[in-house]
Amino acid sequence: MDRQTPTAAGATPAIAQWFAAKAQQPSALVFFRMGDFYELFFTDAETASEALGIALTFRGEHQSQPIPMCGVPVHSHEAYLARLIRRGFRVALCEQTETPEEAKARRATTLNREIVRIVTPGTATEEALLDAARPAWLLALVEGGAAWIDVTTGLFHTQAGAEPAALIARLAPAEILADERLRIEGAIPALPPRDAGPRLAAALGAASLEGFGQFSPPEIAAAAMAVEYVRSVNNGALPRLAPPVAEGARGVLLLDAATRRSLDILEGPRGASLLAAVDRTLTGAGARELAARLASPLDDLAAIRARHEAVAVLREDRTRRSALRAALKGAPDMARALARISLERFFPRDLGAIRDGLQRAAKLAEALAGATPALLAEAVAPLTAAPDAAAELLRALAAELPARLDDGGIAAPGYDGQLDALRRLRDDARGAIAAMQVDLAQAWGVAALKIRHHQQLGYLAEVPAAAGEKLLREAPAKAVGDLTPIHRQSMASAHRFTCAALAALDRRLSEAGDQAAKRERLVIAHLRRLILADAEPIAAAAREMAALDVLAGSAELATEGAWCRPELTERPDFAIEAGRHPVVEAALRRARGPQFVPNDCDLSPGHRLCLLTGPNMAGKSTWLRQNALMVILAQAGMFLPAAAARIGLVDRLFSRVGAADDLAGGRSTFMVEMTETAAILNQAGPRSLVVLDEVGRGTATWDGLAIATAVLEALHDRIRARTLFATHFHELTALSDKLPELRLAAMQVREWRGEVVFLHSVAAGAAEKSWGVHVAKLAGVPAPVLKRAASVLASLEARAAAGADPLAAEMPLFARAPTPPGDPLLDALAKLDPDALSPREAQEALYHLKALAAGREAL
Ligand code: ADP
Ligand code: MG
Repeated sequence: MDRQTPTAAGATPAIAQWFAAKAQQPSALVFFRMGDFYELFFTDAETASEALGIALTFRGEHQSQPIPMCGVPVHSHEAYLARLIRRGFRVALCEQTETPEEAKARRATTLNREIVRIVTPGTATEEALLDAARPAWLLALVEGGAAWIDVTTGLFHTQAGAEPAALIARLAPAEILADERLRIEGAIPALPPRDAGPRLAAALGAASLEGFGQFSPPEIAAAAMAVEYVRSVNNGALPRLAPPVAEGARGVLLLDAATRRSLDILEGPRGASLLAAVDRTLTGAGARELAARLASPLDDLAAIRARHEAVAVLREDRTRRSALRAALKGAPDMARALARISLERFFPRDLGAIRDGLQRAAKLAEALAGATPALLAEAVAPLTAAPDAAAELLRALAAELPARLDDGGIAAPGYDGQLDALRRLRDDARGAIAAMQVDLAQAWGVAALKIRHHQQLGYLAEVPAAAGEKLLREAPAKAVGDLTPIHRQSMASAHRFTCAALAALDRRLSEAGDQAAKRERLVIAHLRRLILADAEPIAAAAREMAALDVLAGSAELATEGAWCRPELTERPDFAIEAGRHPVVEAALRRARGPQFVPNDCDLSPGHRLCLLTGPNMAGKSTWLRQNALMVILAQAGMFLPAAAARIGLVDRLFSRVGAADDLAGGRSTFMVEMTETAAILNQAGPRSLVVLDEVGRGTATWDGLAIATAVLEALHDRIRARTLFATHFHELTALSDKLPELRLAAMQVREWRGEVVFLHSVAAGAAEKSWGVHVAKLAGVPAPVLKRAASVLASLEARAAAGADPLAAEMPLFARAPTPPGDPLLDALAKLDPDALSPREAQEALYHLKALAAGREAL
């Protein structure tokens, strides 16, 4: 049960603060800082304790009820945050904004606290909260436009007239903001700011948007909404953002949500996706770029050919490819480090990532020397565009960097003279402590004396209890002047003392340490400014590295067995020789099962449509999908798992599977199929490729057959799209007489000693017969049922052979099997009139029916 959070009335001061914070961020879990813990209260505590599997306790009372509470230690809170963020929660960090001394000075009973940040799935930048291989899109949707930002890399895109579902399917956003009026499920309701244009321009550091290109008002509204949200969760701060890129609907291959679902492009069952099968990248940024290319292939011949050209050269030139991949392997994620640095939420290793990343970029530029393909030659300049920052970081940063900025030791010795001097002073003082330990041990006559550092008390001389007692009673003669012991603390086994000399040394040491730390912070701030001044070239170098990782990875993939460079044309060609399904092939190889059987596919003009028949499990879906994936791979700029391929550029790719019920969506199979089919008929054109896998399965035979026929006719006559259509409606094969561009193909199956053997090869013509009965046997359907099915099938086949037109009104294959004449059970049942029976007669009738049934079973 969901308990209501009570009101603030009568709360203690701290709890009243909590109520105030919660009121500011009602949809976030409030991490309420109390000393070394972040505490959660009330319903937040209940939610978090369940989500994190941590104990729920109670603390004090509020309105006479115990207050539910749970907490996580500050030092390890990131791991808990990561789990909450991954589950879609938003977390408001409510920090102590003053020290206890400051609170005391203003006579406050409790420390001041404020929400300093809201951590959300689409705005977090911490490594622990991110997936290195995936972008973390924050998508903002308004009526007629969309914008999406990856705060972790600064990438920023907009699109006018975007279809929300298609965009959500393409981007798989970490977080969605949507205008309330759009009613997008799971989205955070938001409204675009009123002065969207000026606000967006200001966020980009410009006076107006003019210099950035053409944006429609809805794009600007969505972009401003996204930016304002990022600002609001970061307490007003904005990370560095790249100039937004307006994505027209032109230039990219359009894939709708249903197509993406059916093709397992980025995600698939048990991790078996296209992405996983073809990913040979070596860096997180490269993996993200590859995912982006597969999610959004191009429809632009020149751009695609440029990618193919680079892959072709890198495939042949092994030396260059190895040099590139050696420079990429282990390269840091500069884009994400840059985002953290710009938000002032970074660690020393982020500075190191920029330093090392720029070194790697320079290595890549070297490895590209003399390369001719445009994409390779043009990468050289951006890879080396920040030489000064690269050189200075190399000088400035220590080889080994500490974990935290406060740890010190980030700046390399020799970089900053003042820092070096302060560090020397501090280190001298450290040596002086060691000397003082010897002096004090002698003066106080305690050989076991140790000088130790304590968090609150500073440096103290610690002596064993007995020696301490003695010192307290009477100090030795030599323990005078500034060596006179001053007692500070007694414990069971030891006493702690200081003396004027030690206290002075302690002060000197902590002053030197403070000053060194202060100076080091200045050095760090300088390095941060240095990096941000070159943010654009650094980000550009990072993008080139990611792109090179994808190209070199694609070339690497293309050396593994038979992968070909596709020939792309502007005609409606489609001819694949010996094509393979990369995901199924990889799965078969892993399982050390039979080899994948390559198949051709030809939808060139004259036979644009192909109708594929064949029994279940013969490989129909595999063949259909592998050909759809060819388009995605080719237009993403990759090579194809085939011996040869000629593909006319596809503007829209549609793939549909006659699906199981979309139970979660609450729609019947038929509704889903028809909605998705309608989308094809309304949007596909002569440059599209349509793949329909057993569509019409979700309804009664007659409807399904009729609809499948009408759809095929429309695709053939009106839409003229290249089409692959798999069906179990044998009757459809008769359509090949009426539709001249429709060719028939069938999955080859052999019978061997009464068993079906799937050959997985595609041949011209229709399947000779339906093998459903054989497949049913494979699946373990009981023998009597199989026997009956076989006899029905035989009689149906006989009638078809006698010349009955399968598309005529009488459709033998699906006619109901005739009731055997004179079944005594059915006769008896028919004779019964339930309304006319007394209870006793009804019971007798039941016994009678049971007896008849038992007799029949015995037959
Ligand atoms: P259908 O759609 O006809 O029921 P599928 O395409 O789902 O058949 O294929 C069933 C199984 O057959 C696949 O999971 C795969 O293991 C195997 N298979 C399909 N095509 C091939 C092929 N070309 N070579 C080898 N095995 C294949
Ligand atoms: Mg299938």
